[in-house]
Amino acid sequence: MTGTGQQLYYFDNYASTRTDPRVVEAMLPYFSERYGNSNSRSHGFGWAAEEAIDLGRERVANLIGAKAAEVLFTSGGTESCNLAVFGVARMYAEKGKHIVTTAVEHRAVMDPIRALEREGWEVTYLPVDQTGLIDIDALKGAIRDDTTLVSVIFGNNEIGTIQDSAAIGAVCKEKGVIFHLDACMGLDTEVIDVDAHGVDLLSMSGHKIYGPKGIGALYVRRRRPRVRLQPMMLGGGQERGMRHGTLNTPGIAGMGMAAELCRLERDADKVRMTALRDRMYKAFMELDEVYLNGHPTQRLPGALNVSFNFIEGESLMMGMPDIAVSSGSACTSATLEPSHVMRALGVGEDLVHTSIRFSLGRFTTAAEVDHAIEQCMGSANKLRDMSPLWEMFKEGVDMSTIEWKHD
Ligand SMILES: *Cc1c(COP(=O)(O)O)cnc(C)c1O
Repeated sequence: MTGTGQQLYYFDNYASTRTDPRVVEAMLPYFSERYGNSNSRSHGFGWAAEEAIDLGRERVANLIGAKAAEVLFTSGGTESCNLAVFGVARMYAEKGKHIVTTAVEHRAVMDPIRALEREGWEVTYLPVDQTGLIDIDALKGAIRDDTTLVSVIFGNNEIGTIQDSAAIGAVCKEKGVIFHLDACMGLDTEVIDVDAHGVDLLSMSGHKIYGPKGIGALYVRRRRPRVRLQPMMLGGGQERGMRHGTLNTPGIAGMGMAAELCRLERDADKVRMTALRDRMYKAFMELDEVYLNGHPTQRLPGALNVSFNFIEGESLMMGMPDIAVSSGSACTSATLEPSHVMRALGVGEDLVHTSIRFSLGRFTTAAEVDHAIEQCMGSANKLRDMSPLWEMFKEGVDMSTIEWKHD
């Protein structure tokens, strides 16, 4: 990409992915020719839109082993997660007001749950181990008679760790509680089958799987159990009354195509991305004091969140201005506050600010990876050469004995 006139290399696929050109192609007719409202039942413009939506629904359902009637469309992953959390909590409030979730959720789940907590719900936040995984026995122990919802992130957007969704689903089935899986990350490379994994609600986002931004989907189980949701907004009666508003036909056509491409290409993409990602990690490991954040193997293939000890992540990023990455530790790039995910992993204060998140995607090439390796290693070596702390460390000074002088 040449946004500022200079070549940029994209390693921020977990923030958003490029829309696949085949997806763009599939969307175009629904802007320019077939622009009707799918609710218009009296003419061909409406029918054309409805047909596109039916196909999109079918394709999204196919990706996760669901029935088309169980998929509803939203404005994105955030809305899907909000609808799942608020929708279940409020619909089943009479049964109980206890929710189980994890310490490493995306804010699209964490913030609605915090809001419910302020409204009187009780929440159990399951801790994770240093690789980012929850403990299944701890989950079992956390579910109570008044628990209505278990909400867990599938692939973590900061560190890539993949929770054991099938085991979580089995526990939820056994205990008879509704299981929401935030699968915004990972459907481009991992196989999730809603029946095999015991999932009752599953959130998806278009722009994380090479579809457009501003479109998402929510799978809502219809049988055993039939899950009901209180809608967040009211209106025209679309989406079985759970999500009102005129449907985004181009977005749905795009999301459908994106889902179809994932289904057809995820295995090959996974193999290629894993190889490129591992090549990158291996190169970084040639430097001393490099640590991987996340699970060593049970991890999304595009995820490489690494801490370069004694190097500020922000400085490292400034040293490689043509590589588009995210700071691995900051909650959002706008704040330098360490993220709740890094804190939950127990990453030490000294290492937390040294992490960088590289995220690879379908369009990442070997040449781009090699360029990023070269830039990052060069920047890291330069910063360490200038660092008195690094020099002391290399001389064998026990860093924990240093008394820092504050003034
Ligand atoms: C991106 C993301 C979301 C939010 O999706 P949007 O479509 O950007 O609103 C939710 N959960 C996870 C895990 C994500 O990665």
